[in-house]
Amino acid sequence: MSECQSCSSSSCGEGDACPNQAEKAFDKRGVRSFIAVGSGKGGVGKSTTTALLAVALARRGLQVGILDADVTGPSIPKLLGVRDPLVGTTGGMLPPASPQLGIRVMSVNLLLDDPAKPVVWRGPLIANLLKQFWDEVEWGNLDYLLIDLPPGTADAPLTVMQSLPLDGMVLVTSPQGLAELIVEKACHMAEMLDVPLLGVVENMSFVRCPACGQSLDLFGPSHAAKLTERFGMPLLGRFPVDPALALLCDAGRVEEYEDKDLDELASALETSLKEASVKGAD
Ligand code: ADP
Repeated sequence: MSECQSCSSSSCGEGDACPNQAEKAFDKRGVRSFIAVGSGKGGVGKSTTTALLAVALARRGLQVGILDADVTGPSIPKLLGVRDPLVGTTGGMLPPASPQLGIRVMSVNLLLDDPAKPVVWRGPLIANLLKQFWDEVEWGNLDYLLIDLPPGTADAPLTVMQSLPLDGMVLVTSPQGLAELIVEKACHMAEMLDVPLLGVVENMSFVRCPACGQSLDLFGPSHAAKLTERFGMPLLGRFPVDPALALLCDAGRVEEYEDKDLDELASALETSLKEASVKGAD
């Protein structure tokens, strides 16, 4: 048997069909970890959670970027107040950075003359654009590139999950039963694609009464424990419905959000990622 061109193993013999080819061919450049943030269902606060995760990691002194793959509902530049234009260089496009923590962002909204205009594209065009967001963007050295996945389990999230060497996926859910059901589909998709499930963030989990500080389950009891048990992943955090956060989102100032559990979220993610990479190496 001749040596395989892709993985150099003399016992492989698979040539172009070599299962190691994609991984071997992928140049991660200066990015240490690729983490997808998905939800299955829209409206649970996936983009807000991606932005908060980036803020929490950046506050730990880490270099963070966000690839906004939610092409038809891009909100990352708005949430983080990223307004600087894209700069093109011979090496590729330079992603602009958020004003306070320098979180680098690439999003279709930075390419549109009018960010309010919709992107009415079919799957293959979206898939191409997402590929360009990696191939033609100079991300520089990053500890984390977070990928804000489009909701659902269709073409666009599938493209991202298959074309980037994801180190893991974070699932965002809310306590509604419907959100849980659809998040399960996203978990199954990750499992089918061999992407490690790093954990669940339950957003809009409860409301803190401003008068007495008591927590109220606005959307009913949490389902997060069921998900974590079923898929063997940790609960990374639970975040309340917080009018202060909604205001900061609208003002593009998510970087200023303070919540006592935010650093814990970053720490839980880093721990889960380390555990996943140890498991992967076994
Ligand atoms: P998704 O990405 O799941 O569609 P977004 O993250 O874009 O949802 O959230 C939509 C809006 O919901 C945000 O702009 C913000 O105003 C609000 N929001 C999200 N999470 C919270 C929260 N925990 N508390 C208050 N408002 C929130």
